[in-house]
Amino acid sequence: MVEVEHLTKRYGRFVAVSDVSFRVPAGSAVALWGHNGAGKTTTLRCVLGLASFEGRITVDGLDVRRQGREVRRRIGYVPQHLALYDMTVSQILSFFCGLRKVPPERAHELLEWVGLGGIGSRPAGTLSGGMRQRLAVALALVADPPVLVLDEPTANLDARARQDLLDLLVALRRKGHTILFASHRPGEVLDLADQVIVMEDGKVKASGPPQALARLDRSGVGVVDFE
Ligand code: ATP
Repeated sequence: MVEVEHLTKRYGRFVAVSDVSFRVPAGSAVALWGHNGAGKTTTLRCVLGLASFEGRITVDGLDVRRQGREVRRRIGYVPQHLALYDMTVSQILSFFCGLRKVPPERAHELLEWVGLGGIGSRPAGTLSGGMRQRLAVALALVADPPVLVLDEPTANLDARARQDLLDLLVALRRKGHTILFASHRPGEVLDLADQVIVMEDGKVKASGPPQALARLDRSGVGVVDFE
């Protein structure tokens, strides 16, 4: 579904991502794993067509560089930080439904599905971190895109909120969504990913199923050591 071939991203002379290639087969979940600055967010931004790049990226057979608009219709994006506006949860969702030209009932359905059914009238700015992320997922799902791209989806959440959000993402994968996400949390990688791409200094250091990540455990920050 998503194919990244020889992706390189330069900022001036600085090479943030260097010759990165990987595939996300339809219906699977792939994690980009790495510490801060490894190049995960930059890679996701290129997949979304939000940054210029060298190499080739296709989504559902569409070329990101030439068919960016069509590609973005197929992707729901959950950014690391969702900027919230001075509106209620329901108003924000309805607004997004309007933008995507889907019926307003979809907003109601999504609120229920992500577990925010009872709080539609709350100002979005008063939500907890976990609720914010659920709202971000609901917004990404408005047009029912086949692909979801998430940047560190459970960062800064407490253990309970993290698990709730992970359960939601696992359910989305079971429903057939293709998922590409950046992470440096062992728990979410082990629960969600079929494949992990280990990035370091903008390069792919290794890749494989998460179980193969030696010394990756649920408790710690997680040290990846493929050797
Ligand atoms: P984090 O978890 O901190 O977001 P990351 O793995 O997502 O880390 P990126 O944000 O992709 O890493 O950054 C990769 C490298 O590119 C970093 O060294 C970063 O400083 C650099 N970088 C990112 N955006 C820009 C930019 N707009 N201009 C210059 N350098 C950038």
